[in-house]
Amino acid sequence: MKHDIIIIGGGPSGLSTALHLARDFPHLIRHILILEKARYPRPKLCAGGLVIDAEVILQRLGLDVSEVPHVDADKIHFDFEARGLDIHMPKRHALRVIRRAEFDNWLAKKAESRGIEIREGVTVKNIIIDPDDVRVETNQEIFQAKVVVGADGSNGVTRRCVFPDAPLHTARVLEVITPVIAGKLEHNKVISSTNKEIASEKIAPRNEGQLKGAYFDFFPVLTNIAGYVWDFPTQVNGELMRCWGIYDTNLLANRKRPPLKVPLAKEMSRLGYDLENYEIQGYPIRWFTPNNQISVPRILLVGDAAGADPFLGEGISIALGYGALAAREIGEAFQRNEFSFSGYRHQVLRSALGQVLLARWFVARVVYSFKWKWFQILVWRILKPIVVLLAWIFILDWGKRL
Ligand SMILES: Cc1cc2nc3c(=O)[nH]c(=O)nc-3n(C[C@H](O)[C@H](O)[C@H](O)COP(=O)(O)OP(=O)(O)OC[C@H]3O[C@@H](n4cnc5c(N)ncnc54)[C@H](O)[C@@H]3O)c2cc1C
Repeated sequence: MKHDIIIIGGGPSGLSTALHLARDFPHLIRHILILEKARYPRPKLCAGGLVIDAEVILQRLGLDVSEVPHVDADKIHFDFEARGLDIHMPKRHALRVIRRAEFDNWLAKKAESRGIEIREGVTVKNIIIDPDDVRVETNQEIFQAKVVVGADGSNGVTRRCVFPDAPLHTARVLEVITPVIAGKLEHNKVISSTNKEIASEKIAPRNEGQLKGAYFDFFPVLTNIAGYVWDFPTQVNGELMRCWGIYDTNLLANRKRPPLKVPLAKEMSRLGYDLENYEIQGYPIRWFTPNNQISVPRILLVGDAAGADPFLGEGISIALGYGALAAREIGEAFQRNEFSFSGYRHQVLRSALGQVLLARWFVARVVYSFKWKWFQILVWRILKPIVVLLAWIFILDWGKRL
């Protein structure tokens, strides 16, 4: 079957590409087909933290994410060993937390209501570039398209078919959902079989006020885990819960590291939880480097397939941002009837999104390479105002400049 534009993957990057095409090039709406291997609402392992830029991009598409069940965190705390700096937004929440099954389902319904066709339950198996089109082989039938968008995530088939030998930069990520335990300082209530020595530590569950915050603690860096442990509020089926996890860019993978769940267990134990009591899930995140290849003639990559934020592994706003840029490239390509996409990488790098990804790539290399305790204390505790200012200028609030 022949189509003009096939988008492989109906996560935030694929849906954002389609929604931006529909808004900016409405004559293309009927020529877009999204192929999604799952069926909505489908599970997606993700903590679901939306930064302001995600909301700004959605607002510009005429979408109000507050329609999706959510919990708001009033502050983001960047800590080293439980002390550090806070980021809060004037008169609004700092982080809006959604469940991805609900968010992606909502976004897919919005795309369909704007006339975009989504075929669920279709798994793309192979992609072959012919001189005049792209052949997309699936578990059901073979499609042909003038343009293909690889929006199929960190393990996607598009990137593997198009760049089979390209170096792969992926982070390891674990996630755990727990009920909320609030309370006062207690002693020796938790004995974790993951890490016995933490049993003797004091346990201080977060109090009611602290439970409104999102916490990122960079203490694992000292043990060659180039990342952080997080915990923030979430909701599952309307019930307030806590989402925990650990992120490791793998930048220090050549050094000796403890198993990823050890620092996570340590942090949870400090706050009164035993990791052993909960289900742990893991998934990789492919991250951005300035050298990532993101297009060949007739094919563009977006979202995790192109590369998420290397510093924090934040990828939802980034995926939505890639969608805006890819739609522009595709719309202009149809106007010119020229589909080399030779300028796409350059367009991404010079956009507000590209600048932020470059800044975060640089910050990740500094913060995770200088892994001495004094340096982490300097960054997160002593240089607070400078770090917050630099974050505002280079890392946050880019969505409105896209
Ligand atoms: C544990 C964890 C926690 C995270 N927490 C956050 C967070 O709090 N905030 C944040 O901003 N980011 C977070 N991220 C990152 C975020 O989840 C991703 O960056 C984001 O989902 C990328 O969106 P995407 O559309 O590129 O890919 P995805 O969301 O992965 O979507 C890809 C889609 O393609 C489909 N697909 C895949 N292969 C095929 C195929 N062969 N054929 C057809 N369809 C296919 C999939 O079913 C899926 O629907 C987290 C990631 C992990 C792993």
